[in-house]
Amino acid sequence: MHDCIYCKIVRRELPAEILHDDDDVCAFLERNPINPGHAIVVPKTHFNSLTQIPEDLMGRLFSVATSLAQSIVRVTDSDAFNLHVANGECIGEVIPHSHVHVIPRVSTDGFAWGWRSLSCSETDRNELAQEIRAHNEKKKR
Ligand SMILES: [Zn+2]
Repeated sequence: MHDCIYCKIVRRELPAEILHDDDDVCAFLERNPINPGHAIVVPKTHFNSLTQIPEDLMGRLFSVATSLAQSIVRVTDSDAFNLHVANGECIGEVIPHSHVHVIPRVSTDGFAWGWRSLSCSETDRNELAQEIRAHNEKKKR
């Protein structure tokens, strides 16, 4: 995509600290990291949604992300990492080129996701699970 920042990084039209580059996947340091070492892993082909990425490329994307995460954790002396994906502008996806965040973490880094825990009855969970399974099976046909 012509004006996409991540496509421009992939084409080396914008500067970035490249961490990984192969035929399909590119990774680079986030310019405004949550923690030092925060990286972005992208398919080199522009996809607006994760749902458009072919299965084998999706596997490569997460394989590179987890491999890189191990190196980032080691180099930044972190304890753990988060992989984060936002699929959709309304939930915080800023760059509409599907990507995976690799975020090194330590327990004292002061960052929190702001999770919440809604209560949900077993009946509601069961009904919802049935609907999701049915929809997912229908998609496969
Ligand atoms: Zn792009």
